[in-house]
Amino acid sequence: MTQSVGIIGHGLTGITAAIMLARAGYQVDLIGRKPEFSGGLQLAPNGLAALQSLGLYDDVMKKAVRLESICITALGDGRTLADISHHDKRVYLGMGRADLYQLLARHLSQQKNIRTLASPAIHLARSGEAMEIFLEDGRSVHADEIIGADGANGLCRSFVAGAQLSRKEAPYFAMRSEISADILPRLFCRPQTRLMLGEGCHFVSYPIAAQKKINCVFCASAEALHPEWADSILAGHPLLKYLYDANPHWAKLPLYHDTPIASWRRMGVTLIGDAAHMMPPHLAQGAGQGFEDIAYLGAQLAIKDLSAGLRSMAIDRAARLAPVSGKAGVTGRVMRLSGLPGQLRDSLLGLAGTQLVENWLEDIWQGNN
Ligand SMILES: Cc1cc2nc3c(=O)[nH]c(=O)nc-3n(C[C@H](O)[C@H](O)[C@H](O)COP(=O)(O)OP(=O)(O)OC[C@H]3O[C@@H](n4cnc5c(N)ncnc54)[C@H](O)[C@@H]3O)c2cc1C
Repeated sequence: MTQSVGIIGHGLTGITAAIMLARAGYQVDLIGRKPEFSGGLQLAPNGLAALQSLGLYDDVMKKAVRLESICITALGDGRTLADISHHDKRVYLGMGRADLYQLLARHLSQQKNIRTLASPAIHLARSGEAMEIFLEDGRSVHADEIIGADGANGLCRSFVAGAQLSRKEAPYFAMRSEISADILPRLFCRPQTRLMLGEGCHFVSYPIAAQKKINCVFCASAEALHPEWADSILAGHPLLKYLYDANPHWAKLPLYHDTPIASWRRMGVTLIGDAAHMMPPHLAQGAGQGFEDIAYLGAQLAIKDLSAGLRSMAIDRAARLAPVSGKAGVTGRVMRLSGLPGQLRDSLLGLAGTQLVENWLEDIWQGNN
């Protein structure tokens, strides 16, 4: 008999897992409301290798902007600290989240064995040999296994690890916006990641949507991001004032640094994506790691049954994620340095930044090999 999987969470991880599992022959229920997607994502070589093994790479390439380098400058005086160029063999992309979701939704619609249920899950329970998922709209769904792709504050994470990040105050936030490229200086439209390091804050931008839009993210402490933050930080800056003049909507996103959870599986529930490994976005790895979870699970299911494949994925990927998450946290701390430590950071980057960044990211970009 065909085995069934209930996937909770209709974000980028949930929908991608649904496509992989349906193609592998499982009956899939994808549970949760489709979120509104805005802003962009960078996709590094490891995430792209995972998307390639899931048969999604070619479509992603058609919609993404290939970024040629990561240019790190000082936010204060604009001097270049490091320029990490992506050589011919290293593909590194910028892509709109809405574009990525749209192409995933097209692949989803091609699978007959996926049912989408646009209602949040409110409770999980054992039901004989299977699991039962209770939905907010009163229905319930039985599944042999549940995959929790419902993010850092979801039901599944609580079920497996008892941990909910929303109970913690976020010390740092990202302000994210997408701005039309027409109204920004050409510098922002270059096919590169621009990282500007400031005093306890930093700014990242890169083009998305065929270079018609620029994804802009400003990260700083909760105190610095008071209601007039844009007047005090953006308005007087020679480059960032163009963002200020554009007056876009800024989405305020909390940045947590989570201690990685050791176990991603309990009873019939297995976590993937942010539900398993919420990390700050400073290495641009969150979604890419979710795609790695799914590709790794796909490879396990080619040689193991469903429960054994999920168990292996949960153990092996948790071991792989702990150092990645640690590095994301350290990177955030370095990006937030100020005063003398910040000046030392900038000097070091000026002397050997390219090599330092390449070495720091090498094992992460290599992926789950
Ligand atoms: C500022 C910022 C920049 C980033 N940049 C990058 C980048 O450049 N590259 C990169 O790879 N990653 C990046 N990330 C990380 C990336 O956005 C996340 O890792 C990724 O979106 C996680 O996807 P997910 O589907 O696992 O979780 P989520 O996006 O959190 O999706 C979970 C879904 O589950 C739903 N849900 C919750 N509870 C329930 C329930 N009870 N029932 C049903 N559904 C439920 C939610 O509504 C949501 O739709 C960035 C993150 C931030 C904040």
